[in-house]
Amino acid sequence: MFTKILVANRGEIALRVIRACREMGIASVAVYSDADARGPHVREADEAVNIGPAPSSQSYLRGDVIIEAAKQTGAQAIHPGYGFLSEREWFAKAVRDAELVFIGPPPEAIAAMGSKVAARQLAIAANVPVVPGTTEALRDATEAHAIAEQFGYPVLLKAAAGGGGKGMRVVREAGELSASLDAARREAKNAFGDDAVYVEKYVVGPRHVEIQVLGDTHGNMVSLLERECSVQRRHQKMIEEAPSVAVSPELRRQMGETAVRAAKSAGYVNAGTCEFLLDRDGDFYFLEMNTRLQVEHPVTEFITGIDLVQWQIRVAAGEALPFRQEDIVPRGWAIECRITSEDPANGFLPSTGTVSYLRIPSGPGVRWDGGIETGSEVGLHYDPMLAKLIVYAANREAAIDRMHRALLELTIDGIESSRDFHLRVMEDAEFRAGAIEIQWLERRLDSLIGGKPPAEASRLAALVAALIADSDRHTPVLNSGAANGGERNAAPIADAWTRVARLESLR
Ligand code: ADP
Repeated sequence: MFTKILVANRGEIALRVIRACREMGIASVAVYSDADARGPHVREADEAVNIGPAPSSQSYLRGDVIIEAAKQTGAQAIHPGYGFLSEREWFAKAVRDAELVFIGPPPEAIAAMGSKVAARQLAIAANVPVVPGTTEALRDATEAHAIAEQFGYPVLLKAAAGGGGKGMRVVREAGELSASLDAARREAKNAFGDDAVYVEKYVVGPRHVEIQVLGDTHGNMVSLLERECSVQRRHQKMIEEAPSVAVSPELRRQMGETAVRAAKSAGYVNAGTCEFLLDRDGDFYFLEMNTRLQVEHPVTEFITGIDLVQWQIRVAAGEALPFRQEDIVPRGWAIECRITSEDPANGFLPSTGTVSYLRIPSGPGVRWDGGIETGSEVGLHYDPMLAKLIVYAANREAAIDRMHRALLELTIDGIESSRDFHLRVMEDAEFRAGAIEIQWLERRLDSLIGGKPPAEASRLAALVAALIADSDRHTPVLNSGAANGGERNAAPIADAWTRVARLESLR
């Protein structure tokens, strides 16, 4: 086993990996940009190395600097987390060439699955169903027109190198095609340095259901069951759960076998995810494979009882998986909400500032994977995801109630966050009934973000009541700004929340 691992990432995922290392008795090395010098991952790791200025192109994407940091600190392996260098074939290869271990799949498997076009070709060869579409990049608009006519509108233009919903355009009629193709190409070129775009039939009303796989270097590979990630905005996941209401034991078995077959055909090792669209008839189509740990891995950890990050490390060190497919049985229900620094009431605009007060939810079945704390600066350099709130309960209804309760406990002051949006979703009758598909959220968004959620309104009323009741004995919160030049003062606000909590508990 390794004695020291370098974590080539920041925020919540860096902390997640550092925690796994600590539980396994492995020392951890953090890397950080100038903007993150006081970040929690720097403090929690056993050692930390500055790798450059704030822009990620000059720090977290500097593979050469990161490999040098690993060598200098004596780390034997590098965990890339997700995003940044996690799916760069050249980085996985450079790590191997430097005689270090990349905690992830071999570079050849990243390459095989890295382009969506190549992944589709591989899937077809492995007898894995794919969404109807092309398996080559489009040459020009004329070709695009011919293909779109063949499949019928709507169609979806996709960047071959795509990720994070970038370079994707839904085209509803022939008249929109040329302009959309130009736009998709431009966006793909900017985001990925590659303007290859292909076309797929746009499936209406499917669910996004993905299968987590885990393979070792001894030829064993298991499916760690499904996650449902249909609650999406602009093709980006916002809420994930496991298992899925739409997946029967038989469908689970079929999708699991298909995912394992697709992964094996790419020579896959370590943790990875095969994403599928599941239509209303129960037919499923392979979308792509993510060759890394996913943001939403905790819901799988809850229902399988398997620590994915620890197993990534063990598999990378050459250990064989001790469990067989029949040992993997789902238990209970888990839900994850992505807490982002985006303002739902304002078109999900990114919000920046200092976290002046943070109250983290806790209690039974609650897990907080966060990268912020009171005093953290939230800027525009990195991804807006601040934390993930994950809950686990015996069944879906109980998990939704638990998430609702946990969201009520969450307070983030100083920046806007997606908390209220998530509260509304947990209160939504359609969501509670499991009647969701990938276009559901866009359709419901207006009614979900209009005004403050009722639960929040009652909390504010309680806050006001508490302030009035206690104003004789405490520094008045509402005046505290004046004393320090208008700055928000965390302490009295925290104090007020404590009083609100007390008040609420007396009800
Ligand atoms: P990215 O890598 O950019 O995340 P994906 O191929 O994983 O792109 O697709 C992201 C999301 O876009 C999917 O989860 C799904 O909601 C939607 N999507 C992708 N392909 C299709 C399709 N052919 N029809 C309908 N929706 C699709």
